[in-house]
Amino acid sequence: MSRVAVVTGAGSGMGVAISQHFAARGDRVALLDVNGDAVEEVTQRLRDGGAEAISCQVDVSDRRAVFAAIETVRTELGAVEIIVTSAGIEAFVPFLEISPESWEHMMAVNLTGTFNCLQAVVPDMLAGGWGRIVTISSSSAQSGTKNMSHYVASKGGVIALTKALAVEYAPRGITVNTIPPGFIETPMVHRPIEAGLLPSMEELIARAPVGRAGTPDDIAAACAFLCSEEAGYITGQLIGVNGGWYL
Ligand code: NAD
Repeated sequence: MSRVAVVTGAGSGMGVAISQHFAARGDRVALLDVNGDAVEEVTQRLRDGGAEAISCQVDVSDRRAVFAAIETVRTELGAVEIIVTSAGIEAFVPFLEISPESWEHMMAVNLTGTFNCLQAVVPDMLAGGWGRIVTISSSSAQSGTKNMSHYVASKGGVIALTKALAVEYAPRGITVNTIPPGFIETPMVHRPIEAGLLPSMEELIARAPVGRAGTPDDIAAACAFLCSEEAGYITGQLIGVNGGWYL
């Protein structure tokens, strides 16, 4: 069955692979990202492959823009049945150097951005009596990570929000799960490596229990399953996709 799926952060990294997986199985996909050029390029590739896909440039922390984008999705593709919230930002700053402004910005994008997107689409799922929500959190919120306390706190909030919504919407046919990724090779990992804020890729791989970095497709495969018909009895769960970094 073809569903309408929204993917945020679809202009880069795992959001690209998640969109590709939905398109490949025949879903109609709306790709949202603050980087309009990047997300349009990804969307065009999906269309070239025969998919029904649209792109929307939107900052997830801008509530009005999110609601306007979802209204466009409804008009062009139909009521939203699936959402994966992959949009996010990272930063590496010692706790005492985090300014109130950067704390607020981190929360605005990673946590409030998730809140905005979910509030915009849940009414469609309630009306249809079916929905699949996957939030992308972080294994750092399970393990703790130094110099990322604002990021880790925002992702901890995403995990808690996921559990709360799972309970609230379980009787309404909507499942809500979170994938806390660990060490997935995307620009978000390359940026801090190049800035000397993380060890080299070789060192990270040497520490990884499975002996390799995760790929965006590793995340997308788990997402596709959680958003399938068959996953209807799985809700409120943290499905770790981390190659054994955190058990
Ligand atoms: P990425 O940087 O490649 O992609 C993130 C995307 O989000 C980008 O396209 C960016 O433009 C978009 N984005 C950023 N701010 C936005 C905003 N305000 N509104 C809309 N879009 C915005 O990173 P990625 O690794 O693909 O990360 C995807 C998600 O996975 C993020 O939420 C990240 O925190 C999480 N994560 C990644 C890893 C990892 O190892 N890569 C680990 C844990 C968690």
